[in-house]
Amino acid sequence: MQNLSIVLVEDEPGDAGLIRYSLKFSGNEHDVHWVSSLEALDTHLRAAAASPDVILLDLNLPDSSGLDTISRCKAMARETPIVVLTGHDDMKFSLKALEAGAQDYLIKDGVEAEALLRAIRYAMERHQLEKRLQESEELMMAAIEGGSLGIWEWNLITDACYTSERLLKNVGFDADDDAAPVTLSQWLALTHPDDTSAVEQALNRHINGEAPRYQHEFRLKHKQGHWVWVFESGHLVGRDAKGNPERMVGIQQDISSRKEMEEQLRNLAMHDPLTGLFNRRSFMEAMDSEYGRVKRRDHYHTSILMLDIDHFKHVNDTYGHAAGDDILKTFAHTIADNLRENDVFGRLGGEEFAILLPDTDQAGSDHVAEKVRAAIEAMRVQAAGVTIKITTSVGVAMLSANDNRPDGALARADAALYRAKESGRNRVAHAEISTEPPTATA
Ligand code: GH3
Ligand code: MG
Ligand code: MG
Repeated sequence: MQNLSIVLVEDEPGDAGLIRYSLKFSGNEHDVHWVSSLEALDTHLRAAAASPDVILLDLNLPDSSGLDTISRCKAMARETPIVVLTGHDDMKFSLKALEAGAQDYLIKDGVEAEALLRAIRYAMERHQLEKRLQESEELMMAAIEGGSLGIWEWNLITDACYTSERLLKNVGFDADDDAAPVTLSQWLALTHPDDTSAVEQALNRHINGEAPRYQHEFRLKHKQGHWVWVFESGHLVGRDAKGNPERMVGIQQDISSRKEMEEQLRNLAMHDPLTGLFNRRSFMEAMDSEYGRVKRRDHYHTSILMLDIDHFKHVNDTYGHAAGDDILKTFAHTIADNLRENDVFGRLGGEEFAILLPDTDQAGSDHVAEKVRAAIEAMRVQAAGVTIKITTSVGVAMLSANDNRPDGALARADAALYRAKESGRNRVAHAEISTEPPTATA
């Protein structure tokens, strides 16, 4: 990794010291500039020759607090990704921080250099993608204005469609291709079955006067069989003597590459870059919606497993951090191979993992927990020139319709995990059945 220029905005000298200390010993000579208020940040950015690579931002500063800090920081440094340093381990708040324009957030307690640098690299990557996405949107506007788009015209009376050569090319047809669609019905037949009715609705909304123009993004089948994402925009241009709509004209643009970038961005935001598993954020979202199911349906059980590698600090100390990372990856794959497609497997933090087992009762989750424990005991990883063995402890709990907190079962599984550790590690322990009374509703 290249040396980064990092600006740290933090008013607590203790916290700032810890972060600077951990970056200092990360193996690179990162340039860390520390300021303790937004005003000092502004002064620093104005004086600096180049934008920093990343801003690490504490939200509660002498001259700003909460989400406001993010938007003000963003206004000062449009070109720079922001990683929020927060004291709360609060899902909703963290999501809001992302909505306000931060690229990522880190919980301040126990930030380790490796995790911090990974978050920074990840924030820079996301920021880069977002920039390219914005550029591609600007390019599209330029293309519309420059007239370099596919053009179509649709006769509502006869259903006939005229389409320009360029538009036909989007879906792989030559200008004189006899197989090319010539009516709207034929075009709709080439539309992805999941998109057809939305296209018709969008057209109708404009025809009925509910929308000032027809605009829609959908998939069309390419002549070679794959799907192409297109954006269409158009409006009515003629009515007959009775005022009935006669013709619509518009443009079409191939937006496949933009859609691909959006998909990549979504993936980056949902997954842990090291293992490819769900990150804490998306795991908690999956758990939230699973709670909904548990509360709605009788006799429906969902279990959760919490896993923590045994003596992992010792493994890192003995074989090095890179070997530790290899083990984390193999650990993730080994377990994933033992799960069903519906199971949700996430990395909650360093070497702590969780698995949500939807539609699985106590006996089922016992079985999975033991299978996973045994698979890890049998796993061998070649790293740092040696064969390394590890074990894992597992805590098991059931989601309960009585849980008041959305992470109630997670806390129980965590307590069970603690008992598995206490009683010797490399074992499975169960949570007590939830006795939390249901929330009183007024
Ligand atoms: P225990 O059996 O009680 O869980 O012991 P432990 O050593 O595993 O427990 P502890 O939670 O104290 O240590 C976790 C270690 O995991 C410390 C940290 O160095 C390591 N770790 C956390 N995240 C990463 C990572 O991303 N990569 C690597 N290589 N190590 C990590
Ligand atoms: Mg551990
Ligand atoms: Mg741990």
